[in-house]
Amino acid sequence: MSKIEVKAYGAQAKDAALEPLDIKRREVLDDDVKIDILYCGVCHSDIHQVRNDWGNSKYPVVPGHEIVGRVLEVGKNVTHFKEGDLVGVGCMVDSCQHCDACNEGLEQYCENGATMTYNGKDKHLGGHTFGGYSETVIVKEDFVLSVPENLDTKATAPLLCAGITTYSPLRHWEVEEGDKVGVIGLGGLGHMGVKFAHAMGAHVVMITTSPDKSEDAKKLGADEVLISKDEEAMKKHAGSFDFLLNTVPVKHDLNPYIQLLKRDATMVIVGAIEPLEEMHGGSLIMGRKSVAGSVIGGIEETQEMLDFCGEHDITCDVEMIDIQNINEAYDRVTSSDVKYRFVIDMQSLKN
Ligand code: NAP
Ligand code: ZN
Repeated sequence: MSKIEVKAYGAQAKDAALEPLDIKRREVLDDDVKIDILYCGVCHSDIHQVRNDWGNSKYPVVPGHEIVGRVLEVGKNVTHFKEGDLVGVGCMVDSCQHCDACNEGLEQYCENGATMTYNGKDKHLGGHTFGGYSETVIVKEDFVLSVPENLDTKATAPLLCAGITTYSPLRHWEVEEGDKVGVIGLGGLGHMGVKFAHAMGAHVVMITTSPDKSEDAKKLGADEVLISKDEEAMKKHAGSFDFLLNTVPVKHDLNPYIQLLKRDATMVIVGAIEPLEEMHGGSLIMGRKSVAGSVIGGIEETQEMLDFCGEHDITCDVEMIDIQNINEAYDRVTSSDVKYRFVIDMQSLKN
C-alpha cells in the first residue's frame, strides 16, 4: 500500500522531550476520510503515554486524541462526509464492529479491542497508530464525528476526549435535575464534568485540592466548592452526594471521597488506572455504595454529546499553544496549572 509522509511531533523514548518527526499515513481507502488537522487538545493521557506511566507505550509516541479539522478527501464509499466538513476524531479510530459491545454502540469496550488513535495496533501499515499532533490523519468514516459549526472551533477539540469521558458517566448513571453531583479534580476532564452536570440541572460541587481554583469553579457552573484537604468541610458534606465523578490522574486514597456518598450512590473513577490505595470494605457495605469505572464513550454517544454542546453552547476553556511549546505545557499540566485545557494550533507545525 502506498504511504503518505506527514509532519508530526512525538517522543522517541519515555524520558525524551517531544520533537519534530515524520510519520507515514496510509493512502485514503474506500471507507476513509482524510482530515486536515486544525486543532488538537492536550490530554493528561498523552503525558501518561509519552512517559510510559502505564507500561504499554510504543515509541515513537505521537500523541493526540482530541482532533478537530476539515475534511480534505473522502473514499468512494463515504456517504456522511464531504470535502470541507468540520469533523472530529477522539480516542478510537476503529473496532471490530461486530461484537456485543460494538453492536450496542459501545466500541470503547470492543471485545476484540478497539484501535486507539495513537499507540494502538495499526491494522493497515503494521506497527502502531499515530495521533493528532500531526498535519493530517486518515480515519474510517464510522469513527469520524461531525463538529457543530456554531461553536468556537478551537474550543471544541477537547470535547472529543475530556467532553465524552465526563458526559458518558453522567448519562449512564442517570444524573438528573436536583441531584447533588461532586466533580473531583478541576483539570481538563473536571471542568467539562462541571459544565455538563450543571447543564443537566444538577447541584454541582467542585471538589478540589486547589483553593485558588474556587472562583473559576463557580464561573464554570459549580454551585459550591469543597476543598478536599479541609477535613472539617469534608465532614459537613459526608453522606450527601448522589454521584461523584473522580478525575484524579494518579493513585490516591478513595476513602475520604467514599464517605461523601449517600446510601446507594456511586463514585465513578475515570482518572487513575493504576492500582489504587486500599478501600475500606465497611465504608462501601455500610450504605450499599459503589465505586465504578468508565472509559470515554461510544461513537453514537460522542455525536450525541457534540450535538448537546451545539444546542447548549458548551465549549471548553482552552489555553492555545504552538506545538513548539508542548514540553512546557506537559510540565504545567502535571503541576495542575492549566485553565483548563491546552489546545495546539496545528498551523504551528508548518513553522
Ligand atoms: P488534568 O488536566 O491534569 O486534571 C487532573 C486534576 O486532578 C488536576 O487539575 C487536579 O485538580 C487534580 N489532581 C491532580 N493530582 C491530584 C492528587 N494527587 N490528588 C487529588 N487531586 C489531584 O488531567 P485530565 O486531562 O483531566 O485527565 C485526568 C485523568 O483522566 C488522567 O489520568 C487521564 O489519563 C485520565 N483520562 C481518562 C479517560 C477515560 O476514558 N477514563 C479519558 C481521558 C483522560 P485540583 O487542582 O482541582 O485538585
Ligand atoms: Zn484523553
